[in-house]
Amino acid sequence: MLASTNTCAHEGVEGYLVRVEASVSTGLPQLTFVGLPDTAVREGRERVRSAIRATTPDFPRGRGLVNLSPASRRKAGSAFDLSIAIALLTAAGLSETEQVRGTAFLGELGLDGQVRAVNGALPAALCASRRGLERLVLPRANAAEAALAGGLAVYGVDSLGETLSLLRSGFKAAPVVVDAEALLAERAGTNSDLVDVHGQQSARRALEIAAAGRHHMLMSGPPGAGKTMLARRLPGLLPALSVAEAMEITTVHSVAGVAGGALVTERPFRAPHHAVSGPGLVGGGGPSIRPGEISLSHRGVLFLDELPEFSPAVLNQLRQPLEEAELTICRAAGSVTFPAGFLLVAAMNPCPCGFKGCTGRECRCSDQQLRRYRNRISGPLLDRIDLHVHVPRISFAEMDPGKSPEDSASVRQRVERAARRRSLREQSRLPFSRSAEELLGKASEAMNLSARSTRSLQAVSSTIADLADESEVSCAHLSEALQYRPLDDEQL
Ligand SMILES: [Zn+2]
Repeated sequence: MLASTNTCAHEGVEGYLVRVEASVSTGLPQLTFVGLPDTAVREGRERVRSAIRATTPDFPRGRGLVNLSPASRRKAGSAFDLSIAIALLTAAGLSETEQVRGTAFLGELGLDGQVRAVNGALPAALCASRRGLERLVLPRANAAEAALAGGLAVYGVDSLGETLSLLRSGFKAAPVVVDAEALLAERAGTNSDLVDVHGQQSARRALEIAAAGRHHMLMSGPPGAGKTMLARRLPGLLPALSVAEAMEITTVHSVAGVAGGALVTERPFRAPHHAVSGPGLVGGGGPSIRPGEISLSHRGVLFLDELPEFSPAVLNQLRQPLEEAELTICRAAGSVTFPAGFLLVAAMNPCPCGFKGCTGRECRCSDQQLRRYRNRISGPLLDRIDLHVHVPRISFAEMDPGKSPEDSASVRQRVERAARRRSLREQSRLPFSRSAEELLGKASEAMNLSARSTRSLQAVSSTIADLADESEVSCAHLSEALQYRPLDDEQL
């Protein structure tokens, strides 16, 4: 007899429907898979066979044939197991054909028939919902995440046996329901607040501008100045997440297997070590292409500490995502696109020893060492960073214990207002006043600015004017923006 089921796979963050056809006939006891299955699916043959035997002793000894379609799509992973097992059991007359119709199944099987959690539950559920399926049955650990998709009934199961019972009962159990809006409203919030940062006025201001205008930022300063502490506070300054943004982040994290089975309610902060590999940073690796750190920090912050220590070849791969907010990874098997709309915050010491420009400490680096250190960061990458800020070490005398610094929530209010102002007008940038226009001309001539640098200066000035609630960029706004241009060697 012939039977078929539905399951969903994902390529990048896009889910697609896979149809599983199975037939069981008399003959030699064997199980054959067709439809371009990769190693993991072939290994699935053993898991499916063993799980069926452990669940139903009645399964006929005969020839089982399984076909996965469309054949043109590459099918990786173990998430097809449950769907294959249900197709075989239905073909053998051991499951309810009526209930299987309109249902998608997803999950890896253990040899004992247990159903194990898989990656990519949310994109799979979104696809099943979009394709008009009524129900999705998947591992219990993935159910809350899949239920975020909405538009179909989601059931979590622990075993193949439980799945059969659910089908026999005609889905009498209550489906899992999740309210994404409520989850976002009750989010715990981060414990990294600007209220803990004393002094550092210039870096605090740069963080506010970075958050308001989505400008990438580079902090330069000696070890112990608090660059990491400052960077960690940036996600908390960005506008609160909308449901759509939280779903986007959760989808990427789901595919990477780091979503934790629920809606991601905080903007990501990722800080990969400088020894990170190319695939680790931008994605790739393995038969199923995984998102890298740049995609895991989508709609949040990517922090690269000790920027000159990263491999120049690895840093070079940041150029496309910095421009386009997404990255396409090409492999022989096809190409996959992941979102990568991150805010870059980089940090570096001013020189190899770390103390150039520091009061009370002497820098012992030679000019040549200094040049070599700076040259490790390519010009094109530096060009894409709008805000350059020096972060000095703060002495105890400069901290004022009597005065509490402004907290993150107050800064975020200004950031949200500025972001709203920008979203309400047609042009992304504000017009310049006549005198500001003249100053811009003089500055770009005196500083020999490239077209890209001039655009960056205009964008930062416009963000500063937005933060000040003004409808035109003035000389004061532009002058402040000029402070965030890259520093010359002498100024450090
Ligand atoms: Zn030095």
